[in-house]
Amino acid sequence: MRAAAPSAIREVRSPNGPIVFKVRNAVMNILFMGPPGAGKGTQAERIVDEFDIPHISTGDAFRLASKQGTALGLKAKEYVDQGLLVPDEITNGIVKARLALDDCKKGFLLDGFPRTLQQAEALDVMLTELGHSIDHVVDLKIDRGLLLARLTGRRICKTCGSSYHVIFNPSKVEGICDKDGGELYQRPDDTAEKVGTRLDEYSSKTAPLLDYYSSKGLLREVDGEKDIDVVTSDIVSCLKGTL
Ligand code: ADP
Ligand code: AMP
Ligand code: ZN
Repeated sequence: MRAAAPSAIREVRSPNGPIVFKVRNAVMNILFMGPPGAGKGTQAERIVDEFDIPHISTGDAFRLASKQGTALGLKAKEYVDQGLLVPDEITNGIVKARLALDDCKKGFLLDGFPRTLQQAEALDVMLTELGHSIDHVVDLKIDRGLLLARLTGRRICKTCGSSYHVIFNPSKVEGICDKDGGELYQRPDDTAEKVGTRLDEYSSKTAPLLDYYSSKGLLREVDGEKDIDVVTSDIVSCLKGTL
C-alpha cells in the first residue's frame, strides 16, 4: 500500500501538554472547476495519484455509458454530441451512486461536476446525507481565446482515457499512449463547432458557480495557462494551503 501523501499530514497539540502529534488527514474532497480545455482531466490524473483518491469525471462516465450502449448512455449521448449539458436529474443520479461507493470514504476528486447551480445544490444535499463535505474547489483559470487550440488538438487514449495534445503535450509515439500503448483518438465534441457551444454552456450555466463557492470560502484560483508541471505543483501547494 502506498504511503499517504506528506501533504495529508498535519500537527495536532495534545490537550494535556505540549506534545505535538503528527496525524494523517484521511480525507481530501476536491472539486475541479474551469472551462472545457482548462486542464482539469490532465491535472486530475496527477492529483488523484498524489492524494490516492478516486477520480470522478462525469464526462468520462457519460462516454463510457454511451460506448456500452446503456439507456442512460444513449440518452446522455443526445446532449454530449451537441455540446450541450446533460439534464441535471440524469447527471445528479450518476454522481450520487458513485459518491456512495466505499472508496470515496478516503476522499475524492470531482472533475466536471457540478456544472449548474441545481447540481451544486444537489451535491450539497448528497454530501450531507453521506456525512462528507467539500474541502477545496480548484478553479483553473484560462483565457477563452486559448481553449479552441487546446481542445481541437486534444487526443485521448482509448484504453486509459489519458489526455494528450498534438503540440502542447504530445505522446512519445504519434497516436499511441505512453502509459499502455493504447490508441489515441479525437473526441467527436472537440471540433471547432462543438467547442463554441460548449464554451457558451460553460459561460451561461457553470461560471456562475464560482461565486457560489467563493461565498462559502472554498474557492482556490490557479493559473491554468502555465506549463502542465507548474500547474500541478501550484495545485498541490494550494491544497496544502501554502499558495
Ligand atoms: P479539461 O479536462 O479541462 O477539458 P484537459 O485536461 O483534457 O482539459 O486539457 C485539454 C487539452 O489541453 C489537452 O489536450 C491537454 O493535453 C492540454 N493541456 C492541459 N493542460 C495544459 C497546459 N497547462 N498547457 C498546455 N496544454 C495543456
Ligand atoms: P467533459 O469530458 O467534462 O468535457 O464533458 C463532456 C460532455 O459531457 C459535456 O459537454 C456534457 O455534454 C456532458 N457532461 C459532463 N459533465 C456534465 C455535468 N456535470 N452536467 C451536464 N453535462 C455534463
Ligand atoms: Zn492509455
